[in-house]
Amino acid sequence: MSNGRTVALHTLGCKLNYSETSAIERLLEQDGFVRKEFTDKADVYVINTCSVTDNADKECRQLVRRIQRKAPVAMVVVTGCYAQLKPKEIAEIPGVNLVLGAAEKFNIASHLKELTYGDSAKICSCEIEDVEGFHSSFSLAGRTRTFLKVQDGCDYNCSFCTIPMARGKSRSNTTENVLSEIKKIAQAGVKEIVLTGINLGDFGKDGSGARSGETFYSLLQAIEENDGVKRYRISSIEPNLLTKEIIRFVAGSKKIMPHFHIPLQSGSNKILGMMRRRYKRELYAERIEMIKNLIPDCCIGIDVITGFPGESDNDFQETANFLISLDISYLHVFTYSERANTHALQIDPIVPVHVRNERTKIIRSLSYQKMQQFTRKHSGETRPVLFEGENKSGMMEGYTDNYIKIATPFKAEWSNEIVDWKI
Ligand code: SF4
Repeated sequence: MSNGRTVALHTLGCKLNYSETSAIERLLEQDGFVRKEFTDKADVYVINTCSVTDNADKECRQLVRRIQRKAPVAMVVVTGCYAQLKPKEIAEIPGVNLVLGAAEKFNIASHLKELTYGDSAKICSCEIEDVEGFHSSFSLAGRTRTFLKVQDGCDYNCSFCTIPMARGKSRSNTTENVLSEIKKIAQAGVKEIVLTGINLGDFGKDGSGARSGETFYSLLQAIEENDGVKRYRISSIEPNLLTKEIIRFVAGSKKIMPHFHIPLQSGSNKILGMMRRRYKRELYAERIEMIKNLIPDCCIGIDVITGFPGESDNDFQETANFLISLDISYLHVFTYSERANTHALQIDPIVPVHVRNERTKIIRSLSYQKMQQFTRKHSGETRPVLFEGENKSGMMEGYTDNYIKIATPFKAEWSNEIVDWKI
C-alpha cells in the first residue's frame, strides 16, 4: 500500500551498482513508496555512488544541486562506494540529509522513517572490516537483460584499487539462493542474465571470507542444469580465476554465451607486479589461446590501465605489442588516476597526465581496430540475436550470442525475442 511518498533513484558507476539500486528501489516500493524518474519531482532522492569514477565528488555535488533546484524540501540520501569511503565529505554537501555506508544501504526504509526534514545530515556507516553478510540484488529495468549480483567485495589488494575499502571482504550468495533468484527473474520474462560480482571468480565465500565448498565452476554447472532463463553471461573474471575447467565448461554450454571479459591491466610483468596483480602475461596469453582454440567465435573483452606509476615508454610499448598479439575483440581503457589510501601512491615515478592521456588514445584506437576485425570476421554469419525494446529513435538493438551489437528498425514481434540474424 502506498505511504503517499515518492522516490527517485540515480546510479553512478558499475553494473553491480545498477543491480543494487534496483534492489533498493524494490525495498522502498514494498515500503509503500511510489517510484518516480530522477528528472521528476519526488519526496526522496537516492544517489548510489561509485568510487571508481574520477569525479565522484563533483558528480554527487552536481546531482544534489539539481535536486535542490527542482525539489528544495526533498530528502536526499547518498549511498554506495563513495559514501562508504568519504561519509563526512558527503554529509557536508549542502542538501544531503542521510549518508548510508555499505552495511546500511539495504536498511534504507527504516532509516528514512527516523529522518526529519531540517535535521543536519545523518551518517550511518561502520568500518568496512565490520561489513559482513550478502545481500542479493538484481536489476529489472528492462525485460531483456538483468544483472544478477552473486558475489560482493574482494580479498585482493591491487595497488591502484579502492574497491576492497568500499565494499569489504569477499562474500557470496549460496547456489541455492542464486537459483531461486533466477526463478523470480525468469518469471518476469527476462531472457538473459549477466552474472555479476566484484571478484566473480571468487564465488563461494561466506561473510567471514571462509569457503562454503561452492565455487564459480559449480555455480555454472548448477545454472546449466536449471530451467528458466535462456542466456547467461559472465560479467568479468580475473584471469587467474578463469580456470581451464571453466573455459571447457563454457565451450560445451548451451546457456553460457561465448563471451568473456578478462581484466589484464598491463602487458608488462614489471607493471603487473607493481599493481599486485596475481598473474603474469604468460598465463593471460595462455587463457586467451585456450578460449580461442575451444570457442573460436568467442568475444573477449579486456580492461587496461594506462599511465600507472613507473610505466615507462618501453613498458607501455610492451603492453601495446602484447594487446596487438592477442586474438581479442575489444578493450576498455582506464587512464590511471590517483586514489587516496592506495599503495600505488608510493610508487615512483608518476607518469605525467598528458602522457597518460596519449597512451589512452593509442589503446582506444587499438580497441576500435580489434572490434572492427572481430565484427568483420563474423559478418555474413547467421547468429542468434536477443533484441531489446524500441529506443528513442524508433530503432531496436540487440546482441548476438558473441556480443556483436545489431541495430535495426523496431519490430514489435522481435522485442525480447531471440531471432536468427544474418550479420
Ligand atoms: S581484483 Fe583487484 S582491481 Fe579487482 S576489485 Fe579486487 S582489488 Fe580491485
